[in-house]
Order: sequence, then C-alpha cells, then structure tokens
Amino acid sequence: MAGPLEEYSEKRHFENTPEPGPERKETGMQRFVVQEHHARHLHWDLRLEMEGVLKSWAVPKGPPEQPGVRRLAIQVEDHPVDYIDFEGEIEEGQYGAGQVKIWDSGTYEIEERDPKKLTFVLHGERLDGGYVLVHTRENQWIFLKRKG
Ligand code: MN
Repeated sequence: MAGPLEEYSEKRHFENTPEPGPERKETGMQRFVVQEHHARHLHWDLRLEMEGVLKSWAVPKGPPEQPGVRRLAIQVEDHPVDYIDFEGEIEEGQYGAGQVKIWDSGTYEIEERDPKKLTFVLHGERLDGGYVLVHTRENQWIFLKRKG
C-alpha cells in the first residue's frame, strides 16, 4: 500500500493521537498553514496544499517575515489535507508529542516550480507576499521572503 501518506501513517498510532488519519483529499483549493509546534524542539511547520496532500517543511527558527531573511526548512513527510485545521496536544510518547497551534493560514499561488526551487506567493495574516523555497541537499531547503 505504497502511497504519498505512507510515511505519515507509519509514524503514528491513530488510536493514540488526535491527528487526522492518512486520507488524500483533492479539494481544488491551494491553501497553506504554518503550525507552531512545541515538540521536543520548538519549530514551525509550513504546509502547502498540493496534489491531494500537504507538502510539509519544518522550520526550526520560524518563517522569514522580513525580505532577505533566509531560514533553514527541512522537508518532512507529506501530511493529509485535513491537517490544515489541526490544533491540539499530541500526547507524550507519540510521534511529535507536544502542543500544535495554528500560527498563520491562508491561500497561496505557485509562480514557478522545478525540482530545485519553488517560487510562490502567500496570502496569510502574517505571511503575505513573495516567497521562495530552494532545495539545497537531501531534505534541506532554504525558505526566504523575496524583496518586493
Ligand atoms: Mn512538527
């Protein structure tokens, strides 16, 4: 049963976590969310709705809010689209244990996409404007806010 949410599913026990199950869902929308995740190490999770899942990156220092600021973003497993509304407490002993809060959400548009670079515009409350994700190596990307 290989699928885009297989890794998401393998990491979790759905009887013990309030997180949504591993269903793909094509909504026709292009939404994003940033969740503040008080896990063992505080980080922010950027998720872009794409191809029936949420493409996801963990950003240890938080999303760049000023042009020119570069932040490391680690690509993590695809998450189900229903995760876009998820807030709550993942209990001790479960994967990603800790509190999850929505830090920002909205819609986005892709401007350019190739394997090394994703250029997009975010329409959120905190994140509003042009952004780029540049793939550097393995699961590592640089997340930056464009000037203008
Ligand atoms: Mn996380």
